[in-house]
Amino acid sequence: METYKLFIDNEFVDPVGNEWFDTLDPFDGKPWAKIARAGQVDVDNAVASAKAALEGEWGRMNASSRGALLWELGRQIDEHAEELATIESRDNGKLMSEVSGQVRYVAKYFYYYAGLADKIQGAVVPMDKPKVFNYIKHEPLGVIASITPWNSSLLLTAWKVAPALCAGNTVICKPSEFTSASLLVLADLVRKAGIPAGVFNVLTGFGADCGDPLVRHPDVAKVAFTGGDEGGRKVYAAAASGLKGVTLELGGKSPNIVFDDADLDNAVNGVITGIFSAGGQTCMAGSRLLLQESIHDEFVERLVKITSAAKVGDPKDPETEIGPVATEPQFQKVLSYIQIAKDEGAYCAAGGNRLTGQKYGAGQFVEPTIFTGVDNTMRIAQEEVFGPVLSVLKFKDEDDAIRIGNDVRFGLAAGVWTASLHRAMYMTDRLQAGTIWVNNYRSTSYTTPFGGYKHSGIGREGGLDAVREFLETKSVWISTDLQMPNPFVRKY
Ligand code: NAD
Repeated sequence: METYKLFIDNEFVDPVGNEWFDTLDPFDGKPWAKIARAGQVDVDNAVASAKAALEGEWGRMNASSRGALLWELGRQIDEHAEELATIESRDNGKLMSEVSGQVRYVAKYFYYYAGLADKIQGAVVPMDKPKVFNYIKHEPLGVIASITPWNSSLLLTAWKVAPALCAGNTVICKPSEFTSASLLVLADLVRKAGIPAGVFNVLTGFGADCGDPLVRHPDVAKVAFTGGDEGGRKVYAAAASGLKGVTLELGGKSPNIVFDDADLDNAVNGVITGIFSAGGQTCMAGSRLLLQESIHDEFVERLVKITSAAKVGDPKDPETEIGPVATEPQFQKVLSYIQIAKDEGAYCAAGGNRLTGQKYGAGQFVEPTIFTGVDNTMRIAQEEVFGPVLSVLKFKDEDDAIRIGNDVRFGLAAGVWTASLHRAMYMTDRLQAGTIWVNNYRSTSYTTPFGGYKHSGIGREGGLDAVREFLETKSVWISTDLQMPNPFVRKY
């Protein structure tokens, strides 16, 4: 078994309490590596290192040099993309074909924010008062905690770390306890890129004994969190007690809305991509399909045909189209939602069972599943499953689709399929979601913000918005008057 230590101050170190835990391969269910379990003292050490780096070489470095280091880190990621992808796929069970592309895209986040580092400009402000000069400058916040889930460890870390470092902060990453290893390979690349000690640290371990003390640490300035609702609320409350800011990227129950004037071939492909990519284990999954009544039956028939033929199996096999569910608790959760949907009276049009047999390794496999006859009040329409389960609902017209689409506590994303520009604009104006795709689904980019309305989160990642999340604003007043009048003595 391999061993992965903590990464503090550019060194791989044992946890102070010498506690370790196993990480499992979700395909064969076997442990493949030992991971360090960090506690309070490790948190203190990492924060001290990250704080010292702000006062050291990194804090004094000019922005262009900082950008050059981020560029080099991007290059290192590109060069080691296969190694990173293999480890990430081993931990989260995602298809190798999908993770390889994702890791190469991680490099692009670092290139983009490398280029932005020396373009963070302040402003000279026109002043309403005489003989004074005012300017605004932006400064890093300080030590940033990056806390991420198991579904896309490297990508979701890059969404936080690249803009945070671009803005001159230092970071401590806390990956999910299910997918720790890839960030420790990334840590080695950080060192190879020549990034000074303390700028990037990795603490592995659990939410309660590592994540929570990290969020509460008085020298952590901000928390950038992606994860579930429950974890998000805890992190928000703990950060609030220290009056620190957060970005929260939480769950979704995104509507993918197909009108009868849409190109149905494209829409079918878009709906399949929306729900079954990454086996549905993605926050932006189009897990509620809203079909206009007139096309409902034909569309469902086409979906069921393609879904039932999907190749489920070993994520390492290039032929595989859907891999295993990443973790045992998540596997049980997906199965329980299938049962809930059946109990609620939804009709199971495809799938609906777990898959067992030699081909399915340790058996954390669920058939890609489609429920029709779903009412928007059902739990299967309102709650995030985070697995390969699609709920199909009918709508009459635009306003009906908007009503159903928005009638959920989440607001992460939405898809609209139509040939009408007018209809597309009407829908995008009214849907409550941070990202809306028209005649496509699931595109993301480092150039544009991503985040949620309502319970899907707070703040944005990606694009220029992400850098602003990691900056303080300072307003500086300089007197151009030679005299400062005495306010108490008006006459001599
Ligand atoms: P999770 O909330 O259980 O865990 C996320 C991370 O938070 C883990 O590293 C965990 O150890 C840590 N954590 C848990 N409790 C904590 C606490 N009290 N203090 C500090 N850290 C704590 O989420 P998960 O099950 O790993 O991931 C699945 C969830 O992530 C889904 O609900 C999904 O929607 C969400 N997600 C959202 C996005 C997005 O961008 N909006 C992207 C991917 C996943």
